Amino acid sequence: MILISACLAGRNVKYNGGNNAVPWLCRWIERHKEQVALVCPEVMGGLPTPRLPAEIQSKEPDSGDFLTNRRVVNKAGEDVTAQFLLGAEKVLEMVNRQQITVAIMKSNSPSCSGSYIYDGTFSGCKIKGQGITAALLAEHGVKVYSEKTVTPELLKELTEYRCKI
Ligand code: SF4
Repeated sequence: MILISACLAGRNVKYNGGNNAVPWLCRWIERHKEQVALVCPEVMGGLPTPRLPAEIQSKEPDSGDFLTNRRVVNKAGEDVTAQFLLGAEKVLEMVNRQQITVAIMKSNSPSCSGSYIYDGTFSGCKIKGQGITAALLAEHGVKVYSEKTVTPELLKELTEYRCKI
């Protein structure tokens, strides 16, 4: 089983009510439905769609544990950290239940990104960092790819390997 951000599969769960469909990945998912778990951590955490965009800010400059030292605020300045953490915990529960070790998560998302996120100023600047769910999954040993790093060849390898074990 491979965990995939639902918006990459064309589900309209993105903050603006749209999606981030990747056509080749959508076709692959359609053919491998039984090997895929689609999740949207923000919706699972209780946020509506559409919703205001949110970004991660540090409580203090780079001190403490990643998850406890971050807060997530939306563009109106409302603190949505609790919803982001709840969504991340629900995804982790699913991962543990289904023994998932690989995820393909949307890049740049404050929930899903495994490498870069917006810097918390809503100015469009990106910094190196993980989304809340991606960070929790990585902490628990899940290998997090994005739509930019996964390829059809890699997916073939991952699913074939899993069929043999
Ligand atoms: Fe997509 Fe993840 Fe954002 Fe949901 S939380 S819309 S799955 S990037």
